[in-house]
Amino acid sequence: MKIAVLPGDGIGPEIVTEAVNVLNALGESFEMETAPVGGAGYEAKGHPLPEDTLKLAKEADAILFGAVGDWKYDALARELRPEQAILGLRKHLSLFANLRPAICYPELTEASSLKPEIVAGLNILIVRELNGDIYFGSPKGIRTATDGLFPGTREGFDTMRYSEPEVERIAHVAFQAAQKRDKRVCSVDKANVLETSQLWKEVMTRIGKEYPDVELSHMYVDNAAMQLVKAPKAFDVVVTGNLFGDILSDEAAMLTGSIGMLPSASLDKNNKGLYEPSHGSAPDIAGKGVANPLATILSAAMMLRYSLGKADQADRIEQAVQKVLAQGYRTGDIKTEGCKLVGTREMGEAVLKAL
Ligand code: NAD
Repeated sequence: MKIAVLPGDGIGPEIVTEAVNVLNALGESFEMETAPVGGAGYEAKGHPLPEDTLKLAKEADAILFGAVGDWKYDALARELRPEQAILGLRKHLSLFANLRPAICYPELTEASSLKPEIVAGLNILIVRELNGDIYFGSPKGIRTATDGLFPGTREGFDTMRYSEPEVERIAHVAFQAAQKRDKRVCSVDKANVLETSQLWKEVMTRIGKEYPDVELSHMYVDNAAMQLVKAPKAFDVVVTGNLFGDILSDEAAMLTGSIGMLPSASLDKNNKGLYEPSHGSAPDIAGKGVANPLATILSAAMMLRYSLGKADQADRIEQAVQKVLAQGYRTGDIKTEGCKLVGTREMGEAVLKAL
């Protein structure tokens, strides 16, 4: 199995090193090859997603990605900015399903802004469609209005659209993920107002019949936003479109209070995927050896489960992470009173020892 390792910028190389060490300790024979991406790609080859890097990503069975971006590239033309690398990879590899688990480890309930009893033991999965919706629908633009309340004035407009096959494929991802969990899917839409959502709901219901072992419910997005902070543990898998998923996945992430702990996966139709922490490149702490590597290590675990068919090894990593938290190891972003405060390297070492 071939893994493309793309560390990127900022804290990317530091945290990816720890995840690679963990993968190497599993006793599997992975072939890992590293390539520059983001600002590092621009420095090395003049483009955030160099041709060789894209070729490697295409050839690999899975991609382990650190993070990209640095304020020093802000003056570059949009197409040369580091963040274009991630958009390019999603497009070229047809990664349409974004999976973001929000897990609140009992040891870290204090990090959440919600009451401990509401979040302790939380384990939900947000499945967000990544390629469609109002972000990509055309036409879009800014024009002079010919109708509406203020004709003759400038107006901005976007198009929300989803085709049946787009909804079908994300539905299958959500139902199959639920089969590996608590077997419940909540489809989030705004079908009381939007035609796009009406079709979304219809298709979800139809595909749901192919998974009789999974319970399907529907919820309007405004209610889902409320329920996520009121009773988040009531959810198992939440599936939704690009726009609603963008907002709800960040809300769900924050329930756990610790961005340094959250992995993510972006999958294509064959479960090939790109795995990365949910956070960015944190240029403010880059090179200081203090970044939390656990989100990246947990992303490697997701890679084993979803792309490489090694769920048992994924379990081992997740249990090792839980163990180091129980042992009191904390990086600065998740530190608690009386904890063992450690840096990136020491946290990685602690996970290796726990493995
Ligand atoms: P960020 O997630 O990089 O950082 C936000 C805050 O969280 C910072 O204070 C940072 O120090 C802290 N933080 C993040 N990850 C951490 C970790 N593992 N351990 C400890 N602390 C951590 O977001 P930002 O500051 O808004 O963005 C910085 C750069 O990252 C920008 O260039 C942005 O475009 C880029 N970015 C990249 C991705 C990606 O590569 N997918 C995602 C988001 C942001």
